[in-house]
Amino acid sequence: MNAEHHEHHAWAEPYKIKMVELLRMTTREERQRAIREAGYNTFLLRSEDVYIDLLTDSGTSAMSDRQWAGLMLGDEAYSGSRNFYNLQDAVREFYGYRYLVPTHQGRGAEHLMSKIMIRPGDYVPGNMYFTTTRLHQELAGGAFVDVIVDEAHHPASTHPFKGNVDLGKLDALVREVGAEHVPYISLEGCVNMAGGQPFSMANLRELNAYCREHGIPIMLDATRTIENAWFIRQREPGYADKSISEILREICDLTDGCTMSSKKDLLVNIGGFFACNDEQLFLKAQNMVVVYEGLHTYGGMAGRDMEAMAIGIHEAVMEDHQSARIGQVHYLGRKLLDAGIPIVKPIGSHAVFLDARSFLPHVDQDLFPAQTLAAELYIEAGIRSMERGNVSAGRDPQTGQNRHPKLELVRLTLPRRVYTQAHMDVVAEAVIDVYKRRETIGGLNMVYEPEYLRFFQARFTPHETSRGSGSHNDSHKRAEATPVPA
Ligand SMILES: *Cc1c(COP(=O)(O)O)cnc(C)c1O
Repeated sequence: MNAEHHEHHAWAEPYKIKMVELLRMTTREERQRAIREAGYNTFLLRSEDVYIDLLTDSGTSAMSDRQWAGLMLGDEAYSGSRNFYNLQDAVREFYGYRYLVPTHQGRGAEHLMSKIMIRPGDYVPGNMYFTTTRLHQELAGGAFVDVIVDEAHHPASTHPFKGNVDLGKLDALVREVGAEHVPYISLEGCVNMAGGQPFSMANLRELNAYCREHGIPIMLDATRTIENAWFIRQREPGYADKSISEILREICDLTDGCTMSSKKDLLVNIGGFFACNDEQLFLKAQNMVVVYEGLHTYGGMAGRDMEAMAIGIHEAVMEDHQSARIGQVHYLGRKLLDAGIPIVKPIGSHAVFLDARSFLPHVDQDLFPAQTLAAELYIEAGIRSMERGNVSAGRDPQTGQNRHPKLELVRLTLPRRVYTQAHMDVVAEAVIDVYKRRETIGGLNMVYEPEYLRFFQARFTPHETSRGSGSHNDSHKRAEATPVPA
């Protein structure tokens, strides 16, 4: 399997379908009502009202028959479940970390790690923020500092490793605040907020050397590291003949520990863990998990969940699985590129990201272009996507102002092993149809804003502008305002 081969469609699924879940089709009127009732926030839609659900790849994967069989082997003992040991074996074999603390999902692990490692006043550098990761750093008294390469903030840059850490930015921070105020660097694979962009092994090796010299641990956000390993094999010189598991192991060996949301790479619907090599750190995490999650041999998961995850690890490192998974994302991305739709380049791991700023250049960022576009896509064809822009970025805790991120994106996130190529065609057609009528689309006003992680629960109403209704709470008016030719 090489890049050339992959380009030519060899991403066909390495599985066949044994069970199906029926979907409900809706009319445009039904969708207009549903999105209005959801406050124009796709998180607040009912799943039943969605045709193709690309909200997230988190916990939405289809499990294999082996994983379902694994559920039946759940050992639901309160303590010392056999499934915990199976999971520990799999984490040791494929990730290589010595110690494992299971948690109910990724943020559970982030919570433990932030509480243990961060002291108030500390600075936590990272290759771009992730919503829950940064919030737990802040709740523990730390301040997140972005040290990703500049290219990551430019949707059109085709740098092959936009997830790389800028060592210059990291060094500037360390010089300014002192290494003793940097408890660790948080390193994410296939950086979600940058468009699913990988880091390179060369960059990690340099980072490792720098961190050794300054005594700063590297804590991996391992959520999509297996997908990152796939990109290293495709793009980095010297890795074409290595297996995904070999590359994964090499990544982990250059880091000190990880938090994991198993709901992504690991093909399960729920679960996560913290893992590390340092015994003292492990003992603290093992002690804290009983306060917030559950006993240290289940951490908030049922025994059967741990078994499904252990099997999921074995399946996730399979070459043909990753080629099909990422191949499908690239199939959708290339269709959109061919139609001239502005998307983040290069196409990333788990999603295609629409560049809402270029898509809706006439919509002011404080009228939430990405949020608006996500609502329009739902109305167009029942496709649920997610805003990753001004709403997700939230407010600066110091100034209280919207952060106005450079990236104002709509994420079309592909669940693993769930949708078909025909579904991807429907998605592409819907995006193209919305693009054709983009000039009739106005923005949204935020009318309810929760304090934490506002994107999950915020509510909006259409912003009334002179250029047209831009709204969907008045379908009559909207019909008048949709004269764009095909
Ligand atoms: C999903 C995710 C998390 C948080 O994990 P949950 O399982 O949703 O709590 C952390 N980091 C990244 C990169 C993620 O994608």
